[in-house]
Amino acid sequence: MASLDPARAVADLRTLRELTGDEHGAQRLAWTGTWARARAWLRERLAELPVEVDTDEAGNLWARLPGASERTVVIGSHVDSVPDGGWLDGALGVLGGLEVMRAIAAEGEPPVTVALVDWADEEGARFGRSLLGSGLATGALDPEAVAGDVDRDGVTLADALREHGVDVRRAPAARARLDAAAAYLELHIEQGPMLERRGLPVAVVTGTAGVERHVVRVRGQAVQGGAFPMDARRDALVAAARLVLEVRAAAPDERSRATVGDVRAHPGIPTAVPGACELIVDQRHPDADVLAGMLAAVRRAGDRIAEEEGVAIEWERTWRIAPVAFDPGLVELAEAAVQAEAGEAPRLFSGALHDAAAVAQAGVPTVMLFVQSRGGISHHRDEDTAPEHLEAGVRTLARLAEGAIERASAAGT
Ligand SMILES: [Zn+2]
Repeated sequence: MASLDPARAVADLRTLRELTGDEHGAQRLAWTGTWARARAWLRERLAELPVEVDTDEAGNLWARLPGASERTVVIGSHVDSVPDGGWLDGALGVLGGLEVMRAIAAEGEPPVTVALVDWADEEGARFGRSLLGSGLATGALDPEAVAGDVDRDGVTLADALREHGVDVRRAPAARARLDAAAAYLELHIEQGPMLERRGLPVAVVTGTAGVERHVVRVRGQAVQGGAFPMDARRDALVAAARLVLEVRAAAPDERSRATVGDVRAHPGIPTAVPGACELIVDQRHPDADVLAGMLAAVRRAGDRIAEEEGVAIEWERTWRIAPVAFDPGLVELAEAAVQAEAGEAPRLFSGALHDAAAVAQAGVPTVMLFVQSRGGISHHRDEDTAPEHLEAGVRTLARLAEGAIERASAAGT
């Protein structure tokens, strides 16, 4: 790929930031005007290439560079962001992929078809459904189950999508786009500190963690805080606080993630002992058995705490996803690409979910690359990566794409 110009991808990222960000960060919230503006800009860039551009039934934007064979190597990520988000999360994979596609197109017809996809609404920031476009397209999400979801203003998901030309009930037809897919490649920022700690620019991602998410409801007794003696209380918040510590303690190794991101106490006034409390427990691990053990340990601790504190604890599972292991052959190709770029190829798993997880679950051979994130910060305007690391990521993606194209064309003959 003689014409690959990774600095051009970084310049594109900066242009997109100018166009769709403000002093608080990126504002490419899916199904809004700013997001549509980002996509219109992307379409302009794509119009410079010999590609066919359209959106599928789930609202995902596709650019297709036809090759000698229908077999397709797909490169993708998402341009949507959370409100006040970072400039690189998702956008790096799309604009890095755009640069790789430019370089491939410059060499004439490729042996297999190459596609770039911008998945719609990866973040789920407005309706609380992460991986919406990829989930709908791969069948992981049922349109009937999500159509009636409402945002803060009471607008339904179905109506918001309709405003952008998407009939959510027809979204599963988008699955056909993946029928010829021989590989799916996604470049993303790490959103964690591991690469920075090791002083390396790029890593191979071997898979995504499984997730167990529960709402835990603790019921005690609301009594007057000034009057009621300490030894007779059934304090729901004290029980919840003990449980939070158990969640942390039940993360057994460096691959575990365990978070209580929200705690609500009721009635929530200074003079009442909290009679009820809700917390959200999110546990993750790339190994399904370890993840099950983490959940079991916290539930056992909950039983003990309930007895000791005189409260009732009830668990409701709100989300669960199995760990996803990426394609071993593509992981090897990615490893070789990272090795060639940086001399050392660390293997990481992803604790955060990405569109790649939905694509892999749908049976498409998949792999991801991570580039270093400064301070591991993301979903924030301070999200950043050194330009030389961004460029290293784009070069590695190009090498990986080259390998995947070669493999796909060999398999097709
Ligand atoms: Zn992302």
